[in-house]
Amino acid sequence: MQTHAKAVIIGGGMMGVGLAYHLAEEGWTDVVLIEKGELTSGSTWHAAGQCPSFISNYNMAKIHHYSNTLYPKLEAITGQPAGWHGCGGIRLATTPEEVDWFRHVAGFARNVGFHMEVIGPNEIKQLNPWLETQGVIAGAYTNMDGHVDPSSACNAMAAGARQFGATIIRQTRVTDIHVLPSGEFEVVTDQGNITCEHVVNAAGCYAREVAKWVGVDTPITNMEHQYLVTEPLAEFKGLDTELPVMRDPATAGYYRQEQQAGLVGIYEHYGSREAWAGRGGFPAWDSENELFEGDIDRIAPWLEKALERMPIFANAGIKRIINGAIPHTPDGNPLVGPAPGLRNFWQCCGAAIGIAQGAGTGKYLAQWMVHGDSEINMHCVDPRRFGEYADPDYTRAKSFDDYENMFETPLPGREIHAGRPNRVTPLYEPLKARGAVYTEVYGWERPKYFAPEGFEEKLQYRRNNVFDIVAAECRAVRERVGIMDLSSFAKFDVSGAGAEALLDHLTANRLPQKAGGITLTHVLSENGRIEGEWTITRLADDRFYVLTGAGAERQALDQLSREAGADVTITNLTDAFGMLVVAGPKARDVLDPLTDADLGSASFRWLSGQEITLAGIPVRALRVNYVGELGWELHAPMADLARLYDAIRAAGAAHGIADFGGQAVNALRMEKAYCGMGSELTNEITLIEAASTRFFAPDKGDFRGRAATEAVRAKGVSTRLVYGEVAATDCDVYGGEAIMQGERVVGVCTSGGYGHATGKSLAFGYVAPEALHGLEIIILGERRPFSVLQGPVWDLDNARQKA
Ligand SMILES: Cc1cc2nc3c(=O)[nH]c(=O)nc-3n(C[C@H](O)[C@H](O)[C@H](O)COP(=O)(O)OP(=O)(O)OC[C@H]3O[C@@H](n4cnc5c(N)ncnc54)[C@H](O)[C@@H]3O)c2cc1C
Repeated sequence: MQTHAKAVIIGGGMMGVGLAYHLAEEGWTDVVLIEKGELTSGSTWHAAGQCPSFISNYNMAKIHHYSNTLYPKLEAITGQPAGWHGCGGIRLATTPEEVDWFRHVAGFARNVGFHMEVIGPNEIKQLNPWLETQGVIAGAYTNMDGHVDPSSACNAMAAGARQFGATIIRQTRVTDIHVLPSGEFEVVTDQGNITCEHVVNAAGCYAREVAKWVGVDTPITNMEHQYLVTEPLAEFKGLDTELPVMRDPATAGYYRQEQQAGLVGIYEHYGSREAWAGRGGFPAWDSENELFEGDIDRIAPWLEKALERMPIFANAGIKRIINGAIPHTPDGNPLVGPAPGLRNFWQCCGAAIGIAQGAGTGKYLAQWMVHGDSEINMHCVDPRRFGEYADPDYTRAKSFDDYENMFETPLPGREIHAGRPNRVTPLYEPLKARGAVYTEVYGWERPKYFAPEGFEEKLQYRRNNVFDIVAAECRAVRERVGIMDLSSFAKFDVSGAGAEALLDHLTANRLPQKAGGITLTHVLSENGRIEGEWTITRLADDRFYVLTGAGAERQALDQLSREAGADVTITNLTDAFGMLVVAGPKARDVLDPLTDADLGSASFRWLSGQEITLAGIPVRALRVNYVGELGWELHAPMADLARLYDAIRAAGAAHGIADFGGQAVNALRMEKAYCGMGSELTNEITLIEAASTRFFAPDKGDFRGRAATEAVRAKGVSTRLVYGEVAATDCDVYGGEAIMQGERVVGVCTSGGYGHATGKSLAFGYVAPEALHGLEIIILGERRPFSVLQGPVWDLDNARQKA
């Protein structure tokens, strides 16, 4: 066995082989894939092989779409049959809300590149004459997908990987991994050791155990899943065209034609089971091609419904039941990208629909590993989207929920309650008593709005009964003063002789020169792509306070600590410090009586911070906010947060202070045209495309990503961020909608919302630079004129913030 490689991939299932193929195609031929049994002998061989284009998440859809374009061509590329069945798929809807979801996905399908149509019961019947369509009001028909034979496709990709130069070693088990002082890894196997620069964990159901060897936790629970295959059906004999794969929320599953038989798979809503629950939740090391005993009773209630929909299946006997294991993560997306805390240790695991995702995740992870960035936004799969809060209990609770609700329609506003609450501030219960309706962000409970008792949100894509509630919260902030618990922000103290040089190297804007100065700045990759957005306050010559969004806590910690020398100390203050936003024209009047500090603009200017005492509590007050009003972020010890809140509420009563939540923040920031990290600012683009050159200071000296950003500026861009008003009536931009110029797709929306103070529906999107006029956005199937604006619709010159 060779003793050195550029990269070692552990695991020869769809995910590991998909990556080996694409790494080799990208030019990394010194790649070794190690499989303990035969290729596909984990979860891959027994999968039903469905490859849907239709998926809610815009970036996941790009991953699926790529797989669906590669599998049909694999045989031509590799000479080995891949078993592709391009029969298309139909997802059924029985409610108007589901149909709106279809329309939303159909809109972004145009950007992704797959064809999707919303069709009626008659058209569904034409495509599948045996389906009982009672109660069905529409179908989402995708004709560029289908199903694939998992073993054939995996082996064809393996053949391709070998042809491109990768090495695949079977019947060899990795037993340990050592991190060497050089930063390389020693991968220990039962056939000898390999030293390598990169290790990829593609170990499927074993992934959690493999990552433990290098101290990385992997939030995965392995779940049992069953499908059955019927005896051959006379009706399918001699059919010219294969039926589309049917997906049906009412049956919590899928059904399709399998040669001349029927195949039905069910994600039971209750009674679901963790695989190998009796032995810690993962298979024995010598397990290969393992299946569990079939348990029809467990899936019977949904199976009966499926048989009512496809009565011809009910007449056929059951030929076999497949009960196998699938890894699930807390949010159902795979873990693809750098593992937290370690350089060059990559995750490529946790795939619940890994047949559909294997090629796509392989392609985009290979780009990330080889070039430093992927061409698509990878946040939805980045392993660092979970932190330590995603412990085994939390992961198990969420994974069960994810499994049981695989076919649930993910309408906006839907909350998943499993595993919650996880991270809370001392204000969790008090704000709940005031009507806070929470959402979960990086394990934190964060208020999204405040509702009267007994209120129930109507979940739908169109404006709903939360609209007026958010309008009132926005009015409070614009006209009086609002208060919000935003403690979920990630917060770091970065200090020491090397702190300034570290932050200067990592970020694109000029650091504040004087103590108390605040800068908004971005972390770039070597390629100039945007990897993070930080607010940095200088506390002293050698000390800084770094803030970033809740979801970036783990990533920011890695970004800081990877580059830090011995002369820098990084302390994560996220849990130690709470944070209240107090914003609105009356903010100063509310806070003044609580402090001796002079809050007037002459002594406490906009974009500056001071350590002050408020209601007797030491507070780091930063005069910044994301809502575009006079206001402060008040950072205080978490233990004092409730006392601080009570004092501010009491002082604010005379000024009409009101609680507000995250939905109001979105509406308010849209009026100020403030970009959002993860929507407008992503790893796909540079500050040039994002029209954010005011945050790019190339003359400050060298920093990471400077040269690449300069090169993009010199060359020109093919897409550019625009902001504007949408002629929307009952639904606003959500993100992912196509931007059209005539019949041409010229761009994609990144986010949007309704500005309640201005009465405007607003959106951000990326469009071709020349396409600025005659634009329309397709919202839920309807074209809405989109007028590009040159600046924010609220407080153009920031007079209110500077007041
Ligand atoms: C009944 C059923 C139906 C399914 N249907 C579908 C479907 O229709 N569509 C779909 O997209 N998905 C489906 N899936 C899910 C799909 O099977 C998985 O998502 C996918 O196979 C995961 O691939 P993987 O490469 O991550 O894992 P695996 O295929 O399990 O591969 C991991 C490999 O790593 C190897 N390995 C582990 N540890 C070591 C070690 N230490 N040393 C060497 N090798 C090691 C294992 O032997 C294994 O071969 C289904 C799953 C089940 C159970």
